[in-house]
Amino acid sequence: MKKVLVLGATGSIGTSTLDIIRNMKDDFSVAGVTANSNQSKLTELEKEFGCKSSLTKDEGIDGIKRLIDATKPDIVVNGIAGSAGLLPSKIVLDSKIDLALANKETVVMAWPLIKKLADSNDTNIIPVDSEHSAVFCLINQCQKKNVSEIIITASGGPFRNYSKEQLEKVTLSDALKHPTWNMGQKITIDSATLANKGLEVIEATRLFDMDTDHVKVVVHPQSLVHSIVRTNDGMLYAQISDPDMKHPIFQSLVYPENKSNYLKPFDLFDHELNFYKPRYEDFPMLSYAYSAAEKNGGYTIAFNAANEVAVDAFVNSKIGFLDIAKITEKVLEKDFTATPSDFEQVFEIDRLARKYAGECL
Ligand code: NDP
Repeated sequence: MKKVLVLGATGSIGTSTLDIIRNMKDDFSVAGVTANSNQSKLTELEKEFGCKSSLTKDEGIDGIKRLIDATKPDIVVNGIAGSAGLLPSKIVLDSKIDLALANKETVVMAWPLIKKLADSNDTNIIPVDSEHSAVFCLINQCQKKNVSEIIITASGGPFRNYSKEQLEKVTLSDALKHPTWNMGQKITIDSATLANKGLEVIEATRLFDMDTDHVKVVVHPQSLVHSIVRTNDGMLYAQISDPDMKHPIFQSLVYPENKSNYLKPFDLFDHELNFYKPRYEDFPMLSYAYSAAEKNGGYTIAFNAANEVAVDAFVNSKIGFLDIAKITEKVLEKDFTATPSDFEQVFEIDRLARKYAGECL
């Protein structure tokens, strides 16, 4: 029986995680749950699972630390949205507990520091993001030394076939209609701009120690193939399932085992699998992410921060859909060459990039 602490329990990843635990009571129990401000949902979960909880808005990062110390979980799922997820990841690893990591910002903002911490504390970081979960599995099967290329799939989002003119008129409610995945608001908008795929490219280069030339993106509208690796002999290996985050979350919870579960097995019949090149010119966030990953230093932190500020402005009707990329581009023109050597410096770069993005607004 594994005791699971769920950070961001009221969100999309948190809800899927709790659904797995609810359906597999012999295998998992809930050690604790956190949310930022949704007190009523948190109280409901606390009652249902008979566990402890913490509301980050009131208790801050100390609440998460106290919860870890009090409940001693076997694994923590970090399903917190945005850069607010970074310090919780650090605390989990500081506490020498395995981390099932959905919060991609942890990797994008501070991978070298996070990796060092995990290594020195002998803890596992298991990717939950579906593409990286797939690559993690495939690399474990094929062995890293045999893998020459990672190919990340992208649904293409709701505007995959929109013209430039149509993209200019996109509204918030259009952007929130993802064709295949059901996710939180921020990541859904990031999927529409392809910023999410950009974050995932950065994530893949960091998690799997590959340079940007060997991490490719392919648009696959059905979202059935979660990612592909090419081995030295040219062969492609893919992971396929229905687009349901419960699959990668489950895999992270049972790692390194491979167990049966209650989720519907994928039925191969009557599906089409299509693959297209991304439209880099019309969705420039993907190119900006590649460039940030290549330049390194503080550029990936700046990419993430600028995008977060711009998405927030878009959600609050202050800017249009295409302005998200324009603001990010402007911020990335600033100098972020310095590489942060500790978490404080990471947050300094994050603050600076947010300030520049705020000025662009
Ligand atoms: P949601 O917006 O659905 O949920 C976010 C959760 O984080 C909520 O529980 C929320 O609490 C909590 N939260 C928000 N802000 C803070 C904060 N400042 N401090 C602490 N907790 C906070 O997000 P998702 O579940 O969609 O995404 C979570 C993470 O997982 C993101 O990094 C995303 O990129 C990644 N991810 C998500 C996928 C998905 O399918 N949803 C797929 C792959 C990766 P409250 O409800 O109180 O606001």
